[in-house]
Amino acid sequence: MMGETVGPLKSRIGNRVKHPAPKSTGTKGLTSLGTIKDEVWADPELCASEAHRDDCANGDGCWGDYACFAQLIEWDNGEREIRLGYYYRPHAEGRGWRYGSQMTLSMSPSEAKTLLSEVLSRADWFKSLA
Ligand SMILES: [Zn+2]
Repeated sequence: MMGETVGPLKSRIGNRVKHPAPKSTGTKGLTSLGTIKDEVWADPELCASEAHRDDCANGDGCWGDYACFAQLIEWDNGEREIRLGYYYRPHAEGRGWRYGSQMTLSMSPSEAKTLLSEVLSRADWFKSLA
């Protein structure tokens, strides 16, 4: 999908997005094209951080980093969707970020509001933050 990014994880605002039609549509499905209009990162400091070194403090078995994001996508037909996903940077010296969400979840703003509001309303999911 997207190539490896060495160095800080940069903004994707303004990038073009392409969603091929599902195979079940056969030749009738059209590819959706759009633009990333806005984004938020779960941990902006992580995006700017240095890659792991071979002697990283997490030790053997370190999984590297996962940078989670939400993006507002505007399709060329004017419809908007909110996409949630992540980039992944393995623990390995000199390795960069790569797109980790080959299958991401995107939905209308209405669906996203319903889903994310429901998540945020589950107080027991966040009790360790209280
Ligand atoms: Zn590490």
